[in-house]
Amino acid sequence: MLKGKTALVTGSTSGIGLGIAKCLAAQGANIVLNGFGDVDGPKAAIAALGVQVAYHGADMSRPAEIEDMMNFAAAQFGQVDILVNNAGIQHVARIENFPVEKWDAIIAINLSSAFHATRLALPAMRAANNGQGWGRIINVASIHGLVGSAEKSAYVAAKHGIVGLTKVTALENATTGVTCNAICPGWVLTPLVQQQVDARAQASGISNEMAKQQLLGEKEPSMQFTTPEELGALAVFFCSPAGNNVRGVAWNMDGGWTAQ
Ligand code: NAD
Repeated sequence: MLKGKTALVTGSTSGIGLGIAKCLAAQGANIVLNGFGDVDGPKAAIAALGVQVAYHGADMSRPAEIEDMMNFAAAQFGQVDILVNNAGIQHVARIENFPVEKWDAIIAINLSSAFHATRLALPAMRAANNGQGWGRIINVASIHGLVGSAEKSAYVAAKHGIVGLTKVTALENATTGVTCNAICPGWVLTPLVQQQVDARAQASGISNEMAKQQLLGEKEPSMQFTTPEELGALAVFFCSPAGNNVRGVAWNMDGGWTAQ
């Protein structure tokens, strides 16, 4: 379905970003990966799906590096048709104890980076398809884009912000073939959440398994983690022809977290 298209997924060397990149690649899209840590493993996993893959190591807290990444993607594949703004970090502390540099980093990586990548991707998306436009911008927000949790001030502020950015991006392009939507996962067992599981297990002297059950039990009625593959399938739907008029939604995959 996405053969000939190019998808750039930020923060795609791990977790949800890698899961979404694999699902888009399975539909035929060429992929630009981004993120830190192991690059060879994710690159090989995408290449095994029979598409072309490139990597750019932009630090998403730095606008100049984001610009360089967008230019690199255009040089490699012509243009970015699908932009998935996914890179994100977490820090957990009460507001009065929240390190200022962590606040700044979370706002930069989890929110401002999406603004920069979006503003740089839009002109080519709007010009695509003989000027009628074609593009898909998918913002990986969170259930914390819709509700709050204690000790996550920067994360919740950034995620509420990205849900707002999603709506404005959708509205400004509503008469074109460029759509923008947000995905709002509940708990997904990635390295980002495993750190919170480990911290809980250590602080309470309980097993890893018990810490996971507690985490789920507090928020997620299904008592199940959402998987990167399930989130990837939703991203594929947004890219499908059936997603043509889905504009500005924040779609939960949260096991009932916000239905309560
Ligand atoms: P993860 O830690 O597995 O992956 C984060 C990715 O972002 C990695 O590839 C990492 O290298 C990259 N990254 C971090 N800082 C970066 C920077 N400065 N520049 C470029 N890349 C950077 O985490 P994840 O759980 O897969 O999170 C992905 C997204 O999903 C985040 O935006 C997160 O807020 C969101 N999310 C996660 C959950 C969850 O339960 N795991 C729930 C809701 C939303």
